[in-house]
Amino acid sequence: MSALPAELQSLVAKGRAKYGQSGSRVKPKDGRNRYRLLLNPTKPWVDLGVHWIKPEKDAKPIAVVGCESVVHDKPCPICTAVDRAIGAAIDDESKKFYEEWKVKKSVIINALVRTKGEESDDPQILELTPTTFDQVLAIVQSHAEEGINLFDPNEGIDIVIEKSGRAMNTKYLVQPGAGTSKPVPTEAMKKLHDLEAHIEKEFFRGDETKALNAIAATAGVSVAGLLASSPKPKAIAAPSATNAAGSSVAEDDETETTAPATPSALTGATRTKPKPAPEPEPEVVEEEDETVEAEPEAPVKPAAAKPAVAPAEDDGMADILSQLDDL
Ligand SMILES: [Zn+2]
Repeated sequence: MSALPAELQSLVAKGRAKYGQSGSRVKPKDGRNRYRLLLNPTKPWVDLGVHWIKPEKDAKPIAVVGCESVVHDKPCPICTAVDRAIGAAIDDESKKFYEEWKVKKSVIINALVRTKGEESDDPQILELTPTTFDQVLAIVQSHAEEGINLFDPNEGIDIVIEKSGRAMNTKYLVQPGAGTSKPVPTEAMKKLHDLEAHIEKEFFRGDETKALNAIAATAGVSVAGLLASSPKPKAIAAPSATNAAGSSVAEDDETETTAPATPSALTGATRTKPKPAPEPEPEVVEEEDETVEAEPEAPVKPAAAKPAVAPAEDDGMADILSQLDDL
């Protein structure tokens, strides 16, 4: 028996992230949850930001779209559109509703679930609110000061996250795991998820237009020009392939909204009115935890996407043929 070469291993891991069931993220449940955090050396943890665009309060989102600003550090057309909607809101009620469209932030990281009765050696993607993750990092730091690397597969230790309360009152308490922390099996370290690939697959499926149109229709604001500045939907991320995989995303009940005070990075150019003083944002915004099935997309392929590829191939083929002729 020979071992899989290292390059192939990472290729396989990437393939699994792309084709496999990387669609599910786990979140702490009520009560005590024990995890062992695992670091993917290339990207130990990743910020996730998602816009859940609902047509009305308590409705199912009609578009679930990753935030370019949070995820890719680029201007986000949805953030801009949401700001426009909030700015144009005719009353407090609609303003409050539009604010639910703002990005919800979380942090994702690889982890083994070690809660009693749920132990598994298959790494999961653990999703935590930013403030919970900050508690995690504080524990990492205090252990580092004692010379302990909490993330070390052998010498590291588990953490326990205790979730209590509901909705707006949900609380997370993070503590180092008591007792012995079992080492991480070598196999598990080979199965780490590619966190960035996961985000691309789940949240950048080409639904930006849908989200913008929904915002325009609901809030009566113009979203003209916003799509042009957004990155082109990737050909591979296009319609059916990803949706057919049955990937689904569950709306978060505890992810955090951004502080609304950072318009500059997002929409410096378009914002002219002074922003009203932001109200304190609750850490917990959503009560429900519904699952959005990947709906079969109306097959509105961007017409431009296809022809761009074909001629190039034809040229290549022509070249080859002419080379053959030369022989
Ligand atoms: Zn955004």
